[in-house]
Amino acid sequence: MKKGILVHFGELSTKGKNRDDFIARLSENIVHALKGLTLEVRRDRDHIRIYVGEDREAALKRLLDVPGINRLSYFLECERELSSIEEAALAAYEEEKSSTFKIETSRPDKSFPLDSYAVSREVGGFLLRKVPGLRVDVHDPELRIKIIVARARAYVYAKTFQGAGGYPLGSLGKAIMLMSGGIDSPVASYLLLRRGIALEFIHFAAPPYTSEEAVEKVKDLLRVLSAYQAKAKLHVVNFTKLQLAIYEKAGDPYAITIMRRMMLRIAERLARRRKCLAIATGESIGQVASQTLQSLLAINEVTSYPIVRPLAAMDKTMTIELARKIATYDISIRPHEDCCTIFTPRHPVTRPKLEECLKIESSFDYEPLIEAALMDISTVTIGEED
Ligand code: ATP
Ligand code: MG
Repeated sequence: MKKGILVHFGELSTKGKNRDDFIARLSENIVHALKGLTLEVRRDRDHIRIYVGEDREAALKRLLDVPGINRLSYFLECERELSSIEEAALAAYEEEKSSTFKIETSRPDKSFPLDSYAVSREVGGFLLRKVPGLRVDVHDPELRIKIIVARARAYVYAKTFQGAGGYPLGSLGKAIMLMSGGIDSPVASYLLLRRGIALEFIHFAAPPYTSEEAVEKVKDLLRVLSAYQAKAKLHVVNFTKLQLAIYEKAGDPYAITIMRRMMLRIAERLARRRKCLAIATGESIGQVASQTLQSLLAINEVTSYPIVRPLAAMDKTMTIELARKIATYDISIRPHEDCCTIFTPRHPVTRPKLEECLKIESSFDYEPLIEAALMDISTVTIGEED
C-alpha cells in the first residue's frame, strides 16, 4: 500500500475551462513548496496526489500554506480489488479511530463490478467485523472514510485538513509590496502570497543615512518568504535626495505624510511599469500617527491605484504571532535603521490635512526628484539562483 497526500481543489472546481491551467500551476507550486523532499506528484481531473513516503508530516506542514488547496487528506493507495480496499479502509480507520463511522464511495471509473453503494456496504461490513464496538452512523459520523475507485487503482482516505484556500499563486495577478524591513510588511506579504497574489517588492533606502545592512535585512526577509513564492523581484529605490528635500520643505509634523505620498507616487509608477495591479503595504489602522484614517486619506490621494492593506484591522499581538510563525520576526527585529526611523519627526501630525499637503508640495519641484529616484532603482531577484 502506498501512502500519500491527496489535494482537493475546492474553489477551483468552479473554474470551468481554466481548470487545467489552474491545476498545472498548482502542481508546479506544490513541487516548489516541497523542494528538498523526495516526492512524486500525479494529477488527474479531480485531485493531485503527492507520494512522499516517510516525509508525510513535513510535507503536509508546508502544503497547508499553499494557496489554491482547499483541503488535504492522507490517503492510502491500493489494488482495485475489494479485499485490498478493505485492508486500506481498516488502516485508514486505525490512524484515526472513532466510535462511529460512515463509508462514502465514488467511482470515477464505472467499470468496477460493484456500484458505489455496494462497495460502501461491503467495506463497512468488513470494518464492523474487525473492530468490536464500532458503529455506523450515516447522518453524523465521527469519521468519514472515503473510497475512490479509479481506473487503475483505488484510494482510501479519512484524515482531512483545511488548506489555505484561495487560488494558485500567480493566477490572481501581481501586486507591488512596500517592504520596509519592519515586522508588519513581511506578515502582510505572507497573507497576500497565501491568498495567491504574486508580489514584487519595493524598498526605499536612503544611503548613507541607511546602511547596506538594512537592504540585506530586506533580502533576508525575502529569502524566508521565498518558501511561498519561488522568485521575488526586489526593487531598491534610492530615496535620499527626495527625502532630504521633503525634510527641508515639510517641516516636522508633515514630513512623514509627504514622504508616504512620495513613496506611493513612485510605487505606482513602478507598478505600472511592472504590470502590477495593486500596491500593498503593512499599514495597520491606528497603529502609529501615520496610520490613522485621516493619514491614510491624505496619503491615498496621490494614486488611483488600489492599495491593499492586509493588516488594516489586525492588532500588533496577532501580527507578531504570525511573524513568529513564519519565522520573519527575528530578522525584523534586527536593529538596522530604516529610512523612516531615521527621518522620523518628533511630533508627527495625527490628522494631516490634504490642503496642507498640497501647499507643502507646491513649494518645491519634486517631480524631477521622483523621476531621478525612478532612474536610480537597483533590482535583484531573490530566489532559486540567489
Ligand atoms: P513595518 O513593520 O512594515 O515597517 P510599521 O508599523 O513600522 O510597518 P511604518 O514604518 O510606518 O509602519 O510603515 C508603514 C508601511 O509603509 C510599511 O508596512 C511598509 O509597507 C511601508 N514602508 C515603510 N517604510 C518603507 C521603506 N523604507 N520601504 C518600503 N516600504 C516602506
Ligand atoms: Mg517600519
